[in-house]
Amino acid sequence: MDGCLFCKIVAGQIPSTKVYEDERVLAFRDIAPQAPTHILVIPKTHIPSVAGITGENSELVAHIFEVIAQVAEAEGLVNGYRVVSNCGPDAGQTVHHLHFHILGGRELTVNMA
Ligand code: 5GP
Ligand code: ZN
Repeated sequence: MDGCLFCKIVAGQIPSTKVYEDERVLAFRDIAPQAPTHILVIPKTHIPSVAGITGENSELVAHIFEVIAQVAEAEGLVNGYRVVSNCGPDAGQTVHHLHFHILGGRELTVNMA
């Protein structure tokens, strides 16, 4: 999608530190890490947010979660990690291309809000 930051990362127009890639999914390090490990996992196709998940693309989302588990294992997050997806303004979503944050490498606060 024109003008989408993460579509530009997928296209290689903006550099990123990739940790995993296949034909459908890309995982790369967050530019402003909130934890020792902070990775974003995204579909290569443009889906605006969790609100855009439908029966048409949910198999892709299931695949993303398999990748999340694989990346977390590869990063050595044996003590656990958190998976977050901000959806819409109340959640503070800033990039409107579906992405799942993997946060780990330290004990995370329990506060969900
Ligand atoms: P959101 O706030 O939408 O849930 O998360 C967007 C995330 O994208 C933020 O954690 C932010 O640091 C990250 N981010 C924004 N721009 C870039 C960029 O150009 N490269 C990378 N690697 N991460 C980015
Ligand atoms: Zn996009």
